[in-house]
Amino acid sequence: MTSSITIKAPSSTANLGPGFDVFGLAIDAFYDKVTLTKTKSGITIITDDNIPTNPENNTAGLVVKNMKKRFKIKNGIEIKIKKGVPAGFGMGSSAASAAAAAVAFDKLFSLKLDGNSLVEFAGFGEKASAGSVHYDNVAASVLGGFVIVKTNPLEVIRIEPPTNLRMCIAVPSIKVPKKKTKVSRGVIPKKINLTDSVLNISNASAIVAGFMRKDSELIGNSIKDVIVEPARQHLIPGFAKVKQNALKSGALGVTISGAGPSVIAFSKSSANLKKISQAMSRGFASKKIKCQTIICKPSKGAADKRK
Ligand code: ADP
Repeated sequence: MTSSITIKAPSSTANLGPGFDVFGLAIDAFYDKVTLTKTKSGITIITDDNIPTNPENNTAGLVVKNMKKRFKIKNGIEIKIKKGVPAGFGMGSSAASAAAAAVAFDKLFSLKLDGNSLVEFAGFGEKASAGSVHYDNVAASVLGGFVIVKTNPLEVIRIEPPTNLRMCIAVPSIKVPKKKTKVSRGVIPKKINLTDSVLNISNASAIVAGFMRKDSELIGNSIKDVIVEPARQHLIPGFAKVKQNALKSGALGVTISGAGPSVIAFSKSSANLKKISQAMSRGFASKKIKCQTIICKPSKGAADKRK
């Protein structure tokens, strides 16, 4: 009988502009590694990284706690977490741990859960970081590729991205508030006007069509959000310049990655991705902010059997 299992889950970007709380894309920039080991009793978390070790406050811990209860597992479980995804930068760090934990738990106890159920259990873990359950990052991290999240009831639709889709991500070295996701959700308007809603729906629909047609240009050109991005951009110093610079250097579309503060530019493999990344760096530098830039592509998910 297996007593230990290790699963790797990718970073992800949520929203992709107009798809707030609905779209997610797994990206091969960073990975979290979670090892679950059966023990006699209790749930313990072992990590060298700066994340909560109380299972209630750790996204992987909360997933394990919930699944253990739901499937009436008598064993104790040790959770070893090796972070690769930087926490709190809008790259789905808390989600990657949750996704890896859910997939590892499923394998360790041979539950054979389907994709939707894995996403549902992983999403529960987000309560530990964001204070609420949301599925865009975990769905991408569990299933890989591009995902559309439908709720009530939860149904995740996965689409394989075009092979030439590329992203440049700029991760600024700025201090993020402890409850960043809560803060950045707080600035979003409660009511929106019809014109803005129509614009966002048209762009979101075009993004889906772009993924279906494997058309990176259509995806990139449709990364336009007139609702959430304008309300949040003041939380990211230099955002307007970073975006403008990236577009001038050939990016197709630019937006905030998830709840930020990372900024993501969408492009194609044929573009000068280095030039786009450097232009984004200069954008942050104009506000005296250093940033790490990463050129990346879509990733497979934690539950993806194609290795
Ligand atoms: P993101 O998911 O974009 O990295 P969040 O703000 O949603 O950012 O999550 C980061 C917060 O979640 C941090 O405050 C961190 O302490 C908390 N957290 C809890 N568990 C984990 C985990 N396993 N990995 C990363 N962050 C975690």
